[in-house]
Amino acid sequence: MNKYDKFKCNNCGKKITVSNKELKTKLIDNTTVTYFVCRRCNAKFVVSCMDDYIKHKQEEYKKLKDSEAKLLQDMKEYSDGLGELYINEL
Ligand SMILES: [Zn+2]
Repeated sequence: MNKYDKFKCNNCGKKITVSNKELKTKLIDNTTVTYFVCRRCNAKFVVSCMDDYIKHKQEEYKKLKDSEAKLLQDMKEYSDGLGELYINEL
């Protein structure tokens, strides 16, 4: 069950039952924002931004990719250095 299915509008005080079909999503700065609109006063309420857990995981994943890229870069520089040494010795 969605924990936001019962909601009191902060603007007009109307009690709103929000079903999933009334939830709208919008992509803002690569963040999926879920919101709904009060039918009485048209105020918009953000229910959630992208799930924090998923976001956290994505950041972890990104860090992993970054360190992997750095490792590859280091390895490339290392092997380039070896190549030069090898050429110099010929
Ligand atoms: Zn309202």
